[in-house]
Amino acid sequence: MTRPRVGIVGAGQLGRMLALAGYPLGIDCTLLDTSSDAPGAQVADAVLGELDDPAALARLAERVDVVTLEIENVAVGGLESLHGRIEVFPPPAAVAAAQDRLAEKALFHSLGIPTAAFVTIDSAADAAAAERLGWPAILKTRRMGYDGRGQRVVDSTAALAAAWRELGGVPSIAEAFVAFEREVSLIGVQGARGERVFYPLAENVHRGGILASTIAPYDDLGLQRQAETWLTGIMTTLQYRGVLTVEFFHTKRGLVANEMAPRVHNSGHWTIEGAVTSQFENHLRAVLGWPLGDPSARGHAAMLNLLGRLPLRDTMLRVAGAHLHDYGKSPRPGRKVGHCTLVDSERARLLERLEPLRDLVLRSNQ
Ligand code: AMP
Repeated sequence: MTRPRVGIVGAGQLGRMLALAGYPLGIDCTLLDTSSDAPGAQVADAVLGELDDPAALARLAERVDVVTLEIENVAVGGLESLHGRIEVFPPPAAVAAAQDRLAEKALFHSLGIPTAAFVTIDSAADAAAAERLGWPAILKTRRMGYDGRGQRVVDSTAALAAAWRELGGVPSIAEAFVAFEREVSLIGVQGARGERVFYPLAENVHRGGILASTIAPYDDLGLQRQAETWLTGIMTTLQYRGVLTVEFFHTKRGLVANEMAPRVHNSGHWTIEGAVTSQFENHLRAVLGWPLGDPSARGHAAMLNLLGRLPLRDTMLRVAGAHLHDYGKSPRPGRKVGHCTLVDSERARLLERLEPLRDLVLRSNQ
């Protein structure tokens, strides 16, 4: 029997965790990346090349049955060059929508999904239009923004114009500052026949624009239903296949969408140990056209990102029940080098057990 083969554009930690999830199911993953030492390339076959080079993508496509991606900031033209040769999931049009904050907001609005008020900033003179948002406002480049990069909080028209120049004078948007109570995300999966499953909402805490921790489930049935309806709209419109993540602000007036990612997501790492089927396994199942797995939580889970460098391994492993994930990266301030997860059948006990682990991680993070 030939083994199912999945090609993954990008071999960062998400590609690594996808490849690892494929092993028990007999799925062979091949990853495209520029370095043979990339986290994913350490655990699975790799094709070396630029992620948006049509020739490199063609070499990847030759070796696999279907292509997917672990990073959305790749040229859509490269993915489209595979058209007619091999299927690419999620569809390149969905990747294009998620790459551009303006296109993303237009999609959200067409589906009645609320977002922060915003204006487009294509020149320093456009800064005046942001007055109506009130201050502070957040300037974000339309493209290539992630983990707080390509963003500035500003408190006047002049500061906005200066920040726009500092960020390269590229097409951008200015958003009203949302006074949120919490940040949550919903991960949904759509399969080959339009079947869908949703993970429970997760609560995320960011520091400096970077995800620090996730706790799931965020038990609110009303919000869960609302967010599922919105993701259903997005996945249906985009003829989606695979995992889709949408991040929301939970405000006094309900959920406000911030952004979407057409891929497995850092706020879903808890699903490896904390859900019946992980987001990584479900993504592979979806792109291969296989039945989707049960997304239910096994109790309560907390995930902490390890930033900059890993805490001492022995110290971490002595924490009862801590699941350590080391991405095989060299240390660098602010870099996501790993994560750890705790699972418990009771939320209160999970939070108690989390404290010593959180102290350890905060002491180590750089
Ligand atoms: P983003 O890259 O859009 O996900 O932004 C990174 C983080 O910055 C978010 O997770 C929020 O914590 C914060 N942030 C982004 N946009 C806003 C906003 N409009 N109002 C308040 N906080 C925001």
